[in-house]
Formats: sequence, C-alpha cells, structure tokens
Amino acid sequence: MQFGPWDVQFVSAGSFRLDGGAMYGTVPKAVWNRVHPADTDNQILMDTQCLLIRGEVDGKKHVILVENGNGDKESDDFMARFKLATRGTLDANLAKVGVQPGDITLCILTHLHFDHAGGSTRLGSDGQAVPSFPNARYLVQVQDLADAKKPHLRVKASYLPPNWEPLEAAGVLDTVNGAAEVLPGISVRPAPGHIKGLQIVVVEGGGRKLFFVSDLIPTSRHIQPAWCMGYDLDVVTCVDERLKVLQELTGTADLCAFYHDPDTPAGTLSRDAKGRYVLTPVAV
Ligand SMILES: [Zn+2]
Repeated sequence: MQFGPWDVQFVSAGSFRLDGGAMYGTVPKAVWNRVHPADTDNQILMDTQCLLIRGEVDGKKHVILVENGNGDKESDDFMARFKLATRGTLDANLAKVGVQPGDITLCILTHLHFDHAGGSTRLGSDGQAVPSFPNARYLVQVQDLADAKKPHLRVKASYLPPNWEPLEAAGVLDTVNGAAEVLPGISVRPAPGHIKGLQIVVVEGGGRKLFFVSDLIPTSRHIQPAWCMGYDLDVVTCVDERLKVLQELTGTADLCAFYHDPDTPAGTLSRDAKGRYVLTPVAV
C-alpha cells in the first residue's frame, strides 16, 4: 500500500507461541480463548509482522524495516520453548520481495525485547553476533536502551545483550528522545505502559496514516483498551496510551497495524452500539 512516497508492506519474520494467559492478563481464559484459541500447552499463535517501507526522498533511496523478529541466534531449547518457526524466515521473506540484508538502510526498533529486536544481529563465522543488516543504522528510544543496559529483574529475560551490544560496538545504534520525525512522513512517538521506552511508528502520506502500534496493542484481539498483557509493566498507563491511539484512529480511514497478530495484521477502527472497538481488516 502506498503512503505518499512510501511503499509499505508486511514481511513476517516467523511465528511463535506465548502463554495465552500471559498475553491476556486479567481477561478470563473463557473469554480470550474464544477469539485466540490456545494449544494443549496453553500457548497461542503469534506472528512477527515487520513493516517494510521503501521509498525515495530527495533522490535518496530508503529501505526501512520496522522490527526484525526473534532472530536466528538462539538455542534449539529456546526455539522449542516458544515454538519458533524455522530459522531464516525473515531473510527468505525479504528475498521474496526483492530485498537482501545489505539493502536495508534503517531498522526502527519499537523496543529491544527479543521478539522485536532479535533479528538485529546474527552469528558470524566465529560465532560472535554481528549486525544482520551491514548497511543499516538502527534506531531506538534512549529510555529503552538505558533500560536494556540496566534491566529491572521483572524484564531482564526479555533484554538479551547479543541483540543490541554488537550494534553499539559497530557504531550503528542511534537513539531518539521522545517524539521525532525520522524521515518525511515517518515518525516515532513514545507509548509507555508495556515498558517505559516503547515507541510506536506512524507512516503518513497521500492523505492517510498507518500506526504500527507494536506491544501497545499486540494483536487485533487486544483493541479493547483494558485487554492488557500480563507482561505490561504499567497497566494504567498502557490503557491511557491505548485510548489516545484508538481515539485518534476510530472512524477514520487510517490503519492500525498489529505486529503480533497471527492472521489480521492491519485494519481500520470503529465502535459498535455498545461502544466496543471493532476492527475492519484491510489488506496492506
Ligand atoms: Zn512483543
């Protein structure tokens, strides 16, 4: 789908599974299981729908990837625990749309949790992690990088240093503090709640917008504002930040994109007679 100069599409970095109860927090299983059924391990299917944005601005070509999935570096045990799909999924899916790792110019990371930034690095021939995209710069909120370096015990398992330390060592990791326009029509906005340093990405052009909401609203099933995750550190802030985005999008033709949704990566929002948020899926 075109947004002004920007051609935007989803490229999956592969599916995985997380505990359904953790993904739906205080929502009873009897309710969430109807819309997002669990397997025999109580895990639910999730995707990693990265956003590929291509365009030319002032004669310069940009190939931007928002998030890059779980990556391929982890052990077989780790892969099995989260039922991670085959290694190499992101590279294969990028190749299908004509993109090689060396083509990526910028990787925007909404935060450094492993299911969003794990593909930032890959193992080199000596077994050490190196940047996956050799010609790319990487961008994250300054708050999140600080939290990744000194993680609270509660989130330590999600911040794995091999996903970002090699980026810093190579001098390709940039930080932004708060809201910013990254390129004309591509901006980031802080959206705390899930964690302090989460940012969402907004692509705007040709009279419409797409909001890539990351873990603020991880799947299309989470559009009811109070359906927060057990993983969210500050649930009240999360609900407030969700309401801001939902209210801005509802009743417009602008799209909401859900990184972790297994089958509905984007849609428009409206409200029904009871005031519940309703998503109309849109193919991007
Ligand atoms: Zn996530």
